[in-house]
Amino acid sequence: MLVRNRILSLQLASLINPSSSLLPFSKPTLSFPTRYLSHWTLHNPTHRHVSASASKTTQTRQISDAARFVRTVLFVPPGVDPDEVMEDMVLPGSNIVIGPYAGESRIKEVEFVKSSGKAKECPKDHRPEFAILGRSNVGKSSLINALVRKKEVALTSKKPGKTQLINHFLVNKSWYIVDLPGYGFAKAPDAARMDWSSFTKGYFLNRDTLVAVLLLVDASVPPQKIDLDCANWLGRNNIPITLVFTKCDKMKASKGKRPDENIRDFQQVIRQNYKVHPPWIMTSSVTGLGRDDLLLHMSQLRNYWDQ
Ligand code: GDP
Repeated sequence: MLVRNRILSLQLASLINPSSSLLPFSKPTLSFPTRYLSHWTLHNPTHRHVSASASKTTQTRQISDAARFVRTVLFVPPGVDPDEVMEDMVLPGSNIVIGPYAGESRIKEVEFVKSSGKAKECPKDHRPEFAILGRSNVGKSSLINALVRKKEVALTSKKPGKTQLINHFLVNKSWYIVDLPGYGFAKAPDAARMDWSSFTKGYFLNRDTLVAVLLLVDASVPPQKIDLDCANWLGRNNIPITLVFTKCDKMKASKGKRPDENIRDFQQVIRQNYKVHPPWIMTSSVTGLGRDDLLLHMSQLRNYWDQ
Protein backbone atom coordinates (compact mmCIF):
# COMPACT_ATOMS: atom_id res chain seq x y z
CA MET A 1 0.00 0.00 0.00
CA LEU A 2 2.91 2.32 0.79
CA VAL A 3 4.34 1.87 -2.66
CA ARG A 4 0.98 2.52 -4.25
CA ASN A 5 0.62 5.78 -2.31
CA ARG A 6 4.08 6.81 -3.40
CA ILE A 7 3.21 6.27 -7.05
CA LEU A 8 -0.13 7.98 -6.58
CA SER A 9 1.41 11.12 -5.20
CA LEU A 10 3.79 11.14 -8.13
CA GLN A 11 0.94 10.82 -10.52
CA LEU A 12 -0.55 13.92 -8.89
CA ALA A 13 -3.94 12.34 -9.04
CA SER A 14 -5.40 13.55 -5.77
CA LEU A 15 -9.07 14.36 -5.78
CA ILE A 16 -10.43 17.76 -4.91
CA ASN A 17 -13.92 16.62 -4.09
CA PRO A 18 -14.38 12.88 -4.10
CA SER A 19 -18.13 12.98 -3.61
CA SER A 20 -18.69 15.00 -6.75
CA SER A 21 -18.53 11.93 -9.01
CA LEU A 22 -22.28 11.94 -8.97
CA LEU A 23 -22.49 15.36 -10.54
CA PRO A 24 -24.01 15.40 -13.99
CA PHE A 25 -21.24 16.01 -16.46
CA SER A 26 -23.12 18.80 -18.18
CA LYS A 27 -22.25 21.01 -15.17
CA PRO A 28 -20.19 24.11 -16.08
CA THR A 29 -16.53 23.19 -16.19
CA LEU A 30 -13.29 24.85 -15.24
CA SER A 31 -11.66 26.36 -18.26
CA PHE A 32 -9.02 24.05 -19.66
CA PRO A 33 -5.96 25.59 -21.31
CA THR A 34 -7.00 24.36 -24.72
CA ARG A 35 -4.68 26.76 -26.48
CA TYR A 36 -1.80 24.64 -25.22
CA LEU A 37 -3.43 21.39 -26.05
CA SER A 38 -4.67 22.26 -29.48
CA HIS A 39 -1.48 23.95 -30.61
CA TRP A 40 0.94 21.81 -28.77
CA THR A 41 0.30 18.34 -27.54
CA LEU A 42 -2.57 17.24 -29.68
CA HIS A 43 -1.79 18.58 -33.10
CA ASN A 44 1.53 20.20 -33.52
CA PRO A 45 4.38 19.00 -31.38
CA THR A 46 6.78 21.77 -32.35
CA HIS A 47 9.70 22.12 -30.00
CA ARG A 48 8.73 25.18 -28.01
CA HIS A 49 10.36 25.79 -24.65
CA VAL A 50 7.84 25.68 -21.82
CA SER A 51 10.20 25.98 -18.88
CA ALA A 52 8.33 27.82 -16.17
CA SER A 53 11.47 29.56 -14.98
CA ALA A 54 13.37 30.27 -18.16
CA SER A 55 11.24 33.07 -19.52
CA LYS A 56 11.74 35.55 -16.70
CA THR A 57 12.21 38.38 -19.15
CA THR A 58 8.87 37.77 -20.83
CA GLN A 59 5.55 38.91 -19.52
CA THR A 60 4.51 37.79 -16.05
CA ARG A 61 1.21 36.52 -17.38
CA GLN A 62 2.98 34.14 -19.75
CA ILE A 63 5.23 32.88 -16.97
CA SER A 64 2.36 32.12 -14.65
CA ASP A 65 0.39 30.43 -17.43
CA ALA A 66 3.35 28.22 -18.26
CA ALA A 67 4.01 27.43 -14.60
CA ARG A 68 0.38 26.61 -13.97
CA PHE A 69 0.28 24.50 -17.11
CA VAL A 70 3.32 22.45 -16.11
CA ARG A 71 2.08 21.97 -12.56
CA THR A 72 -1.55 21.21 -13.22
CA VAL A 73 -1.82 19.77 -16.70
CA LEU A 74 1.35 17.79 -17.26
CA PHE A 75 2.29 14.52 -15.64
CA VAL A 76 5.76 15.23 -14.24
CA PRO A 77 7.45 11.97 -13.21
CA PRO A 78 10.00 11.37 -10.47
CA GLY A 79 13.40 12.87 -11.08
CA VAL A 80 12.11 15.83 -13.10
CA ASP A 81 12.00 19.36 -11.72
CA PRO A 82 8.69 20.86 -12.89
CA ASP A 83 10.47 24.16 -13.48
CA GLU A 84 12.82 22.53 -15.96
CA VAL A 85 10.30 20.82 -18.19
CA MET A 86 11.02 21.35 -21.89
CA GLU A 87 8.50 20.73 -24.59
CA ASP A 88 10.53 17.96 -26.19
CA MET A 89 10.33 16.03 -22.89
CA VAL A 90 6.57 15.62 -23.38
CA LEU A 91 5.38 12.60 -25.32
CA PRO A 92 3.40 13.71 -28.39
CA GLY A 93 -0.37 13.28 -28.07
CA SER A 94 -0.17 13.13 -24.29
CA ASN A 95 0.53 15.15 -21.14
CA ILE A 96 3.30 12.78 -20.07
CA VAL A 97 6.77 14.13 -19.38
CA ILE A 98 9.59 11.64 -19.80
CA GLY A 99 12.21 11.59 -17.05
CA PRO A 100 15.29 9.65 -15.95
CA TYR A 101 13.33 6.57 -14.85
CA ALA A 102 12.18 5.84 -18.40
CA GLY A 103 14.14 2.88 -19.68
CA GLU A 104 13.98 -0.23 -21.79
CA SER A 105 10.36 -0.57 -22.78
CA ARG A 106 10.32 -3.17 -25.56
CA ILE A 107 8.26 -6.28 -24.96
CA LYS A 108 10.39 -9.27 -25.94
CA GLU A 109 8.25 -12.06 -24.57
CA VAL A 110 4.89 -12.51 -23.01
CA GLU A 111 3.22 -15.56 -21.52
CA PHE A 112 -0.23 -16.18 -20.11
CA VAL A 113 0.14 -17.14 -16.46
CA LYS A 114 -3.30 -17.64 -14.97
CA SER A 115 -6.90 -16.56 -14.62
CA SER A 116 -8.11 -15.69 -11.13
CA GLY A 117 -11.56 -15.25 -9.68
CA LYS A 118 -10.36 -13.29 -6.64
CA ALA A 119 -7.53 -10.94 -5.75
CA LYS A 120 -6.33 -13.61 -3.29
CA GLU A 121 -5.82 -16.06 -6.14
CA CYS A 122 -3.64 -13.70 -8.20
CA PRO A 123 0.11 -14.42 -8.56
CA LYS A 124 2.01 -13.85 -5.35
CA ASP A 125 5.48 -13.16 -6.72
CA HIS A 126 5.33 -9.41 -6.03
CA ARG A 127 6.16 -8.35 -9.55
CA PRO A 128 4.76 -4.95 -10.56
CA GLU A 129 1.63 -4.93 -12.68
CA PHE A 130 -0.55 -2.72 -14.86
CA ALA A 131 -4.27 -3.43 -15.06
CA ILE A 132 -6.10 -2.76 -18.32
CA LEU A 133 -9.65 -1.61 -17.78
CA GLY A 134 -12.45 -0.18 -19.87
CA ARG A 135 -15.93 -0.58 -21.28
CA SER A 136 -16.52 -3.60 -23.43
CA ASN A 137 -15.71 -2.73 -27.04
CA VAL A 138 -13.42 0.14 -26.06
CA GLY A 139 -10.50 -1.63 -27.76
CA LYS A 140 -8.94 -3.43 -24.81
CA SER A 141 -7.95 -6.60 -26.66
CA SER A 142 -6.74 -4.61 -29.64
CA LEU A 143 -4.53 -2.45 -27.42
CA ILE A 144 -3.08 -5.45 -25.60
CA ASN A 145 -2.35 -7.09 -28.96
CA ALA A 146 -0.71 -3.89 -30.17
CA LEU A 147 1.42 -3.52 -27.03
CA VAL A 148 2.70 -7.07 -27.05
CA ARG A 149 2.55 -7.44 -30.86
CA LYS A 150 0.93 -10.84 -30.53
CA LYS A 151 -2.62 -11.84 -31.30
CA GLU A 152 -2.83 -14.86 -29.02
CA VAL A 153 -2.61 -12.81 -25.86
CA ALA A 154 -5.87 -10.95 -26.24
CA LEU A 155 -7.50 -14.06 -27.65
CA THR A 156 -6.70 -15.87 -24.42
CA SER A 157 -8.65 -13.28 -22.45
CA LYS A 158 -11.60 -13.54 -24.83
CA LYS A 159 -12.01 -17.29 -24.41
CA PRO A 160 -15.40 -18.12 -22.93
CA GLY A 161 -15.08 -18.46 -19.19
CA LYS A 162 -12.10 -16.12 -18.98
CA THR A 163 -13.82 -12.86 -19.84
CA GLN A 164 -15.07 -12.37 -16.27
CA LEU A 165 -11.77 -13.28 -14.67
CA ILE A 166 -8.58 -11.43 -13.81
CA ASN A 167 -6.06 -12.61 -16.42
CA HIS A 168 -2.33 -12.23 -15.72
CA PHE A 169 0.24 -12.06 -18.53
CA LEU A 170 3.92 -12.09 -17.60
CA VAL A 171 6.01 -9.73 -19.72
CA ASN A 172 9.79 -10.16 -20.14
CA LYS A 173 9.64 -12.42 -17.07
CA SER A 174 9.55 -9.30 -14.92
CA TRP A 175 6.17 -7.54 -14.85
CA TYR A 176 2.51 -8.21 -15.54
CA ILE A 177 -0.17 -6.91 -17.84
CA VAL A 178 -3.49 -7.73 -16.18
CA ASP A 179 -6.61 -7.96 -18.29
CA LEU A 180 -9.74 -7.18 -16.28
CA PRO A 181 -13.38 -7.80 -17.19
CA GLY A 182 -14.91 -5.00 -19.26
CA TYR A 183 -17.68 -2.98 -17.69
CA GLY A 184 -20.85 -1.28 -18.91
CA PHE A 185 -22.54 -3.77 -21.17
CA ALA A 186 -25.16 -1.89 -23.20
CA LYS A 187 -27.82 -4.36 -22.12
CA ALA A 188 -27.34 -3.70 -18.42
CA PRO A 189 -30.43 -2.12 -16.89
CA ASP A 190 -28.50 0.91 -15.75
CA ALA A 191 -25.48 1.21 -17.98
CA ALA A 192 -24.23 4.26 -16.08
CA ARG A 193 -23.84 2.33 -12.83
CA MET A 194 -20.53 0.73 -11.89
CA ASP A 195 -21.38 -2.89 -12.40
CA TRP A 196 -18.17 -4.60 -11.44
CA SER A 197 -18.56 -7.66 -9.40
CA SER A 198 -17.13 -7.40 -5.94
CA PHE A 199 -14.12 -9.46 -6.97
CA THR A 200 -12.93 -6.77 -9.39
CA LYS A 201 -13.28 -4.13 -6.71
CA GLY A 202 -11.49 -6.48 -4.33
CA TYR A 203 -8.64 -6.66 -6.81
CA PHE A 204 -8.20 -2.88 -6.92
CA LEU A 205 -8.46 -2.44 -3.19
CA ASN A 206 -6.14 -5.28 -2.20
CA ARG A 207 -3.50 -5.54 -4.88
CA ASP A 208 -0.37 -3.93 -3.51
CA THR A 209 1.68 -4.70 -6.62
CA LEU A 210 -0.63 -2.63 -8.83
CA VAL A 211 1.51 0.17 -10.28
CA ALA A 212 -1.31 1.81 -12.22
CA VAL A 213 -4.58 1.16 -14.01
CA LEU A 214 -4.65 1.93 -17.71
CA LEU A 215 -8.21 3.16 -18.03
CA LEU A 216 -9.20 2.92 -21.69
CA VAL A 217 -11.61 5.55 -22.99
CA ASP A 218 -13.05 5.54 -26.51
CA ALA A 219 -12.06 8.86 -28.13
CA SER A 220 -14.45 8.38 -31.04
CA VAL A 221 -17.50 9.07 -28.87
CA PRO A 222 -18.42 11.87 -26.44
CA PRO A 223 -17.58 11.39 -22.75
CA GLN A 224 -19.60 8.55 -21.23
CA LYS A 225 -20.82 8.83 -17.68
CA ILE A 226 -19.77 5.30 -16.84
CA ASP A 227 -16.13 6.03 -17.78
CA LEU A 228 -16.16 9.21 -15.70
CA ASP A 229 -17.69 7.33 -12.78
CA CYS A 230 -15.01 4.70 -13.14
CA ALA A 231 -12.20 7.28 -13.14
CA ASN A 232 -13.74 8.92 -10.08
CA TRP A 233 -14.18 5.62 -8.26
CA LEU A 234 -10.51 4.79 -8.83
CA GLY A 235 -9.48 8.28 -7.72
CA ARG A 236 -11.61 8.10 -4.59
CA ASN A 237 -9.92 4.83 -3.72
CA ASN A 238 -6.40 6.15 -4.34
CA ILE A 239 -5.72 3.92 -7.31
CA PRO A 240 -3.34 5.63 -9.79
CA ILE A 241 -4.65 5.80 -13.34
CA THR A 242 -3.38 6.59 -16.80
CA LEU A 243 -6.14 7.57 -19.23
CA VAL A 244 -5.52 5.77 -22.51
CA PHE A 245 -7.71 7.21 -25.24
CA THR A 246 -8.38 4.58 -27.90
CA LYS A 247 -9.55 4.77 -31.54
CA CYS A 248 -7.89 8.14 -32.09
CA ASP A 249 -7.58 7.35 -35.81
CA LYS A 250 -11.34 7.46 -36.27
CA MET A 251 -12.73 10.32 -38.31
CA LYS A 252 -15.57 12.22 -36.74
CA ALA A 253 -19.02 10.82 -37.28
CA SER A 254 -21.25 13.17 -39.30
CA LYS A 255 -22.30 15.84 -36.79
CA GLY A 256 -20.05 14.23 -34.18
CA LYS A 257 -16.85 15.64 -32.74
CA ARG A 258 -13.29 14.70 -33.61
CA PRO A 259 -11.39 12.39 -31.23
CA ASP A 260 -9.27 15.27 -29.93
CA GLU A 261 -12.45 17.26 -29.19
CA ASN A 262 -13.97 14.31 -27.32
CA ILE A 263 -10.73 13.94 -25.37
CA ARG A 264 -10.78 17.60 -24.41
CA ASP A 265 -14.43 17.31 -23.31
CA PHE A 266 -13.57 14.26 -21.20
CA GLN A 267 -10.70 16.08 -19.56
CA GLN A 268 -12.77 19.12 -18.79
CA VAL A 269 -15.09 16.95 -16.77
CA ILE A 270 -12.25 15.06 -15.09
CA ARG A 271 -10.74 18.34 -13.96
CA GLN A 272 -13.76 19.01 -11.79
CA ASN A 273 -12.66 16.20 -9.53
CA TYR A 274 -8.91 15.96 -9.95
CA LYS A 275 -6.71 18.69 -8.57
CA VAL A 276 -4.12 17.88 -11.21
CA HIS A 277 -4.80 15.91 -14.32
CA PRO A 278 -3.79 12.24 -14.36
CA PRO A 279 -1.46 11.14 -17.16
CA TRP A 280 -3.22 10.62 -20.48
CA ILE A 281 -2.22 9.49 -23.96
CA MET A 282 -3.83 9.17 -27.38
CA THR A 283 -3.60 5.75 -29.03
CA SER A 284 -4.78 3.84 -32.06
CA SER A 285 -4.39 0.13 -32.43
CA VAL A 286 -4.95 0.53 -36.18
CA THR A 287 -2.10 2.96 -36.86
CA GLY A 288 0.07 2.12 -33.84
CA LEU A 289 -0.23 5.70 -32.56
CA GLY A 290 0.96 6.02 -28.97
CA ARG A 291 1.98 2.39 -28.56
CA ASP A 292 5.71 2.88 -28.00
CA ASP A 293 5.14 6.04 -25.99
CA LEU A 294 2.70 4.29 -23.69
CA LEU A 295 5.26 1.54 -23.12
CA LEU A 296 7.88 4.18 -22.30
CA HIS A 297 5.54 5.79 -19.78
CA MET A 298 4.89 2.39 -18.21
CA SER A 299 8.64 1.75 -18.02
CA GLN A 300 9.26 4.87 -15.99
CA LEU A 301 6.48 4.06 -13.53
CA ARG A 302 7.74 0.49 -13.26
CA ASN A 303 11.39 1.41 -12.82
CA TYR A 304 10.50 3.83 -10.05
CA TRP A 305 8.32 1.20 -8.41
CA ASP A 306 11.12 -1.37 -8.65
CA GLN A 307 13.60 0.91 -6.92
P1 GDP B 1 -12.69 -4.94 -26.29
O1 GDP B 1 -14.07 -5.49 -26.18
O2 GDP B 1 -12.52 -3.76 -25.39
O3 GDP B 1 -11.61 -5.96 -26.11
O4 GDP B 1 -12.56 -4.32 -27.77
P2 GDP B 1 -11.84 -4.91 -29.07
O5 GDP B 1 -10.37 -4.80 -28.98
O6 GDP B 1 -12.40 -6.25 -29.38
O7 GDP B 1 -12.32 -3.83 -30.16
C1 GDP B 1 -13.69 -3.56 -30.39
C2 GDP B 1 -13.85 -3.05 -31.81
O8 GDP B 1 -13.19 -1.80 -31.97
C3 GDP B 1 -13.24 -3.97 -32.86
O9 GDP B 1 -14.07 -3.97 -34.01
C4 GDP B 1 -11.89 -3.34 -33.17
O10 GDP B 1 -11.43 -3.63 -34.47
C5 GDP B 1 -12.21 -1.87 -33.01
N1 GDP B 1 -11.02 -1.10 -32.59
C6 GDP B 1 -10.24 -1.36 -31.51
N2 GDP B 1 -9.24 -0.46 -31.42
C7 GDP B 1 -9.39 0.39 -32.47
C8 GDP B 1 -8.67 1.54 -32.91
O11 GDP B 1 -7.67 1.99 -32.35
N3 GDP B 1 -9.16 2.18 -34.04
C9 GDP B 1 -10.27 1.74 -34.70
N4 GDP B 1 -10.66 2.43 -35.78
N5 GDP B 1 -10.96 0.65 -34.30
C10 GDP B 1 -10.54 -0.02 -33.22
